Amino acid sequence: MATGNINVTAENIFPVIKKFLYSDHEIFLRELISNATDATLKLKHLSTLGEIKGDIGNPIIEVKVDKDKKEIRIIDQGIGMTSEEVEKYITQIAFSGAEEFVKQYKDKVEDSGIIGHFGLGFYSSFMVAGKVEIFSKSFKEGSKAVRWECDGSPQYIIEETYKTDRGTEIVLHIDDDSTEFLEEHKITELLNKYNKFMPIPIKFGTREETLPLPEDADKEAKPEKITVDNIVNNPNPAWTKNPSDLKDEDYKAFYRELYPMQFEEPLFNIHLNVDYPFNLTGILYFPKLNKNLDPTKDRIQLYQNQVFVTDNVEGIVPDFLQMLRGVIDSPDIPLNVSRSYLQADGAVKKISSYITRKVADKLISLFKNDRKGFEEKWDDIKVIIEYGMLSEEKFFEKSDKFALYPTVNKEYFTFSELEEKIKPLQTDKDDKLVILYASNEKAQHSYIEAAKEKGYEVLLLDSPIVSHLLQKLETSKENIHFTRVDADHIDNLIKKDEDKISKLSDEEKETLKPIIEEIIPKETYTVQMESMDSSANPFIITQPEFMRRMKEMQATGGGGFMGMGNFPEMYNLVVNTNNDLVVEILNTKTKKKQERLIKQAFDLAKLSQNLLHGEELTNFIKRSFEMIK
Ligand code: ADP
Repeated sequence: MATGNINVTAENIFPVIKKFLYSDHEIFLRELISNATDATLKLKHLSTLGEIKGDIGNPIIEVKVDKDKKEIRIIDQGIGMTSEEVEKYITQIAFSGAEEFVKQYKDKVEDSGIIGHFGLGFYSSFMVAGKVEIFSKSFKEGSKAVRWECDGSPQYIIEETYKTDRGTEIVLHIDDDSTEFLEEHKITELLNKYNKFMPIPIKFGTREETLPLPEDADKEAKPEKITVDNIVNNPNPAWTKNPSDLKDEDYKAFYRELYPMQFEEPLFNIHLNVDYPFNLTGILYFPKLNKNLDPTKDRIQLYQNQVFVTDNVEGIVPDFLQMLRGVIDSPDIPLNVSRSYLQADGAVKKISSYITRKVADKLISLFKNDRKGFEEKWDDIKVIIEYGMLSEEKFFEKSDKFALYPTVNKEYFTFSELEEKIKPLQTDKDDKLVILYASNEKAQHSYIEAAKEKGYEVLLLDSPIVSHLLQKLETSKENIHFTRVDADHIDNLIKKDEDKISKLSDEEKETLKPIIEEIIPKETYTVQMESMDSSANPFIITQPEFMRRMKEMQATGGGGFMGMGNFPEMYNLVVNTNNDLVVEILNTKTKKKQERLIKQAFDLAKLSQNLLHGEELTNFIKRSFEMIK
């Protein structure tokens, strides 16, 4: 037996390791299983190179818990270590790695979004164990088994031991304050969380399996039960396979495997697969976005070589795709760094733009190959796409090929199709293309109808960020203007060079205007005298596009309006001077009666814009009943 001193410069790092990242104690198991996996993969690699004689079998990793002895064992059949290797890799290299890590990060725990997920390696076992033993036997011919023991002081023991099988067994003597890890369900939970897709089979106990009865079995026959290894992981998850080997069903099955509590099927998936200039594989799913979607649940999971790292992919996956689900796996994402560093990292930036590009390409091909199906999905995916168009320039450029603009008649146009279609009728006298839209079919019904009557197309754009998107489209495309159907009366929405015949002379208009202005609230309503079709309503309330859109943009954030105060609610009252009622109002001699007519017409106009409420509404109803009495 030999003893040695771990070369400690940072006083004693064990207490620090113990306290370090209190909430992350559980990662010890992932770290040890990762080491066991590496050792096994190395063995397999050497075997394929022909450097190991004989058959290596099908090596597995086993986790054992002995509650009475307060022990957890992690056993692998990998390459193992010789005595010299334990000295070198465990006491020198691994220790100095852990020491370096602690030195660097002990003051930065608040920044530990990703820090703490990686880096401690073998020494993380001291977070839960007072004493750790290693039993190892190298694959190298003639090597002797070795036992190493350390009780958390800088002193360790190393000696020859008896072990027949190749591989390494780590024995953790669990501390009294960490006994939760001796519970079977806790270990199961951790294995499920971190190791569900690791590449080497992991055994945790056994389970009973019922064998199917042979077809000619007797009716009385009982199915036979056998005991099998309880393998907790799927070593070959879908994302590690070749996309051409997978069918739609396989992707759906993998979705269920990833999110067992998720019952809704995904809309479609995107298989990511690059090896240059960085390594990345993964599968992303577009979920159905419904109102009760919880964005903190079932998020995209980040793996490194099939080891779960985190389900917070902020900075790695562009913001607008955070609502997607699935897996990305990359060894090239630096993990023990802060988020701000991550966002500045060149490789990570490339990964983020690669993902954006792949998503755009997938949308293009979906649109091309199955336009009908794409249109059916549009309502479920539009928010993500519109958000992407707003936030990622590259995505915006590509979006022309798949972004859809649905009309109130449920027709779906791409932007260029729409342009083509509406050009003849909806170009105004200044040669500007005016695109009409509604945000609420019910509330804006009469305006939509008026536009349809003229043969205009009306889009239905109802997502919350639409005002921002229209702003963006107007600045990036030439000579177009969006306006909501209720932004003005129909003839003013798309101004043409037409002389309108007016029933009232200019003089009469000038007389009537102040009479109306006196009765309606001036701070909110601007009176606008217009000669329209006589069949159009006498009073129409409109909400000018600019003010309304600015107000909406302010409400949904961004646009640089912060601290500019609130935009006031502003409306126009359009008075149709060709409507008989308006002529009658002008010609009414009794002041009282004139006032009543204006009030009633104004209230009706408000009613049609859903602006009549409370006392005003009560009075209006009362007055109307009186009138028909
Ligand atoms: P890392 O895995 O990041 O290199 P660790 O502290 O976890 O750091 O491990 C240090 C080294 O000890 C490993 O690189 C490996 O050489 C060796 N090692 C650890 N666990 C095993 C194991 N189960 N089998 C063989 N070698 C191991």
